[in-house]
Amino acid sequence: MASIKNELSNKYLQGVYRDLKKRYPEQKEFLEAVMEVFISLQPVVEARPEIQKNAIIERLVEPERTIMFRVPWMDDKGKVHVNRGYRVQFNSAIGPYKGGLRLHPSVNLSILKFLGFEQIFKNSLTTLPIGGGKGGSDFDPKGKSDNEIMRFCQSFMTELYRHIGPDTDVPAGDIGTGGREIGYMYGQYKRLRNEFTGVLTGKAIPAGGSLARTEATGFGLCYFMQEYMKDYKMSFKGKTVVISGSGNVAIYACQKATELGAKVVAVSDSNGYIYDPAGIDYRNLQLIKEQKRDRIKTYLNYDFGKKAQYFEGCKGIWTIKCDIALPCATQNEIDGESAEILVKNGCKAVGEGANMPSTPEAIAVYKANKVLFGPAKAANAGGVATSALEMCQNSARLSWTFEEVDKKLNDIMVTIYHNSANAAKKYGFEGDIQVGANIAGFEKVCDAMLWEGISY
Ligand code: GLU
Repeated sequence: MASIKNELSNKYLQGVYRDLKKRYPEQKEFLEAVMEVFISLQPVVEARPEIQKNAIIERLVEPERTIMFRVPWMDDKGKVHVNRGYRVQFNSAIGPYKGGLRLHPSVNLSILKFLGFEQIFKNSLTTLPIGGGKGGSDFDPKGKSDNEIMRFCQSFMTELYRHIGPDTDVPAGDIGTGGREIGYMYGQYKRLRNEFTGVLTGKAIPAGGSLARTEATGFGLCYFMQEYMKDYKMSFKGKTVVISGSGNVAIYACQKATELGAKVVAVSDSNGYIYDPAGIDYRNLQLIKEQKRDRIKTYLNYDFGKKAQYFEGCKGIWTIKCDIALPCATQNEIDGESAEILVKNGCKAVGEGANMPSTPEAIAVYKANKVLFGPAKAANAGGVATSALEMCQNSARLSWTFEEVDKKLNDIMVTIYHNSANAAKKYGFEGDIQVGANIAGFEKVCDAMLWEGISY
């Protein structure tokens, strides 16, 4: 593999980064995401002078629009709370803004800008016409009643509805926003607009949702890694897999990896992790997380083989010996130290189901040790790709079977892998899928921006 040097030496990109850092010194996660992309784009910027001439990079790092608003809601005891709501409409060069809504106390503008920025490239990689956006709130859904969740979602949409639309901006789920939340938001949008349109994705099946959307990110991650590993004479068959998280990405990655012949031995939530040497049963995960909305620790109650163990804390999950690691929890969950342990224990491939789960130090460790690295923008694009398929079905006012959607998803993930691998090769970094994904995602957006003139 011809790896790119892990530093920013191009003068143009250095200048843009310096200005960005001066303007947003506190936006740590956003700056981290930008630096990661800039390092990959150096050979492209050098080969294509029209990029600098048209200030493409300066335009790319500044969202087209950022909406911030107040979200007041009342809890079950009658107390009024106020949260902050956001929607970052980052780039619409290739389609309506598209990206999830994150509901988590850690949400701030830095997190949403990092996610929105990544979404531009990810959405471009899907081969479908969707721009990049992200939104959410610092509201914490944990421990809230169903009615509190409904009141929050309705209040959130009471402001957001005026900024979105099926041809403008199509939000979806992310951490803390699942089918239930999308339902309450969709109901409120419909009430306010008197329109039944595909304005949100991840809808319930009777209300215009797509079959296989819930499974899509996790399934897509495995399809992507399977195609990637095939080039290196590897596969999931007979492999030991560790998956962090237990949300919809982790649950369905666990199902697909198992179906492809692997044994998943660990999953986690924000309190701790389960190690089950007999293999995690994804149906139990579904029951605990999707139906009971309970903690992962309760997995022990369903483990009739009595082999599983529960450990407090999250980082320890990366000390478990595995062949393939699929981080599906959250950003920066694998640092350099954890990556070293994974490598020492024989890990051969890492596929990112979460957004930016590996720190730059961790990625450097993977590359130095020739670990196959499927970066988030490419590897977890199956979720948003299937959202775009949901938009297609809504526009055509029909619905496809599970098999049709799943087949399209598989084809898309295979294409994303090859487009990323080819882009890396074209610029002299054969085998570096991280660089290739950034370049392939970027070039399509860049060409559209050049074609559209100096506008959004
Ligand atoms: N939140 C998901 C992501 O990070 C899905 C977004 C969508 O379906 O629009 O890509």
